This record gives sequence, structure tokens and C-alpha cells, in this order.
Amino acid sequence: MPEGHTIHRLAADYRERFGGRPVRASSPQGKFADAAALLDGAVLEGAEAHGKHLFLGFGGEWVHIHLGLFGKVNFGDAPAPPPADTVRLRLANPRSYVDLRGPTSCALLTDGEKQAIHDRLGPDPLRPGDDPDRAWKRISRSRTTIAALLLDQKIIAGVGNVYRAEVLFRHGVDPYRAGKDLTRAEWTAIWTDLAALMREGVRDNRIDTVRPEHTPEAMGRPPRVDDHGGEVYVYRRANLPCHICTTPVRTAELAARNLFWCPSCQRR
Ligand SMILES: [Zn+2]
Repeated sequence: MPEGHTIHRLAADYRERFGGRPVRASSPQGKFADAAALLDGAVLEGAEAHGKHLFLGFGGEWVHIHLGLFGKVNFGDAPAPPPADTVRLRLANPRSYVDLRGPTSCALLTDGEKQAIHDRLGPDPLRPGDDPDRAWKRISRSRTTIAALLLDQKIIAGVGNVYRAEVLFRHGVDPYRAGKDLTRAEWTAIWTDLAALMREGVRDNRIDTVRPEHTPEAMGRPPRVDDHGGEVYVYRRANLPCHICTTPVRTAELAARNLFWCPSCQRR
């Protein structure tokens, strides 16, 4: 499942390659054919993300995309090759094409239907103006663990398993602490840090969470080998020594995902 920074990056790529110009729209797979026929020749006026939801705007109508576990988006330069028959939605113009395959949802929405999705989601650290207090109101009353709350898209949108583990490590917070036992200052620091880390993730298209003094170069350690790339403190480092205190990193399942933490650095 992609994290929110990936969806914001996709929105930026749709804007950059297709924004402000008419697009050719088609659904080679056929499942989105009626909507694609309506959109064919329309101008893409904007693209935005909220958490893991992507919205492509065509003058009062929105294509709502949720990739789910298996959805993929691939951009390429024109000329576009013949599409595979698994492509749900292809957009093309004289310079570029983009293929969407296997999304959990791809639907045409009105402004009102789009707003209803925003209303169901918590604030997103990557959306300018989103209010962390909306999340704090829920977190500060909850007996649920902070690790579970961070993955609840109704409370905060866009945080996935990697940012959850890493931000709690960076703030020394035990993942099993109840939301109501977090201080307001801790929440503000976590939100601010998520916004900065995730903005970096959009820019670099990967997740890096270690501070400058903990990079492989600074510590004289080998770089991480993982298909996710990026340097992290605890994510997928079960049983390896913590970069800071050398205690073995622990793992357990929480909110249906694997959690990683350092039992020594994350006591508070
Ligand atoms: Zn540690």
C-alpha cells in the first residue's frame, strides 16, 4: 500500500504532464469506458491528493482514484505504446501518456461527492491548511494506542506503516502508549515532523527518516539494503541493533500491520 507522499507525488506528476491542456481519455479495459468517453477532449484543470485518495479535476467533475494494494500508475513520454487490456484509464496528449491499472476504485464524482470523501478523512500533513487540531481532538480522548491511531485514515490521512514507525522513534514515543496519554506538545511535534518528512518524501520519491548525524556516512556504517531504498531507524529492522543505543529493534503486529520500535529509545 503506497503511503500518502506517493499519492501527492502522483498528483504533481499528473499536473505537470497534463494540467491545463485537453487530454485524450480511454479505458482499454472497458470498466471505465463511459466516463472516459465523457472526459475525452476535456481539460485537466487540477490534480490533488488527500491521504491515499487521488482526485483529477475536469471542470466540476472529478476522477477519484484509490490504488489500494495492487493499483499502479505509469507515466511515459509520447508516442504511447498500444495499451495493455488491463489499463483502466489512459490519459494522453501529444507529449505524454499515463496508464492506471488495478485500482481499488476509479469513479467519476461531482464536487459534492468529492467533498464527502474529504469529510470522512482526517487532516493530511501534506495538505496546506489542514488542521492538526482536528486529529488532536480525537487522539487526546482515545484509549487506543498511538500506533493504531496514526494508521486510522479518519483521524490522520496519509501516514502509512513506514512513517508511523519512524516518527514514533524520532520522538521517543512508545507505540503502545494510549492517545490520551500523549501531550499536546508531543502531538504538535509529531505533526510538524510528519509534514517535513513527507514533503521530503514527495520531493525525493522515497522515505528517508534518519537525522544527518545518523546517516551511513556520519556513522561509518553500511547503507541500508532494501527495495524501499531510504535510510530508516526501525522500519523492517527487526532484531538488528538500534542505530542509537544498539538494543535489538522489536517487531509485533498492530492494527493489522507490522510495527517496529526500539524498546530502549521509545520508553516515554
Ligand atoms: Zn534505541
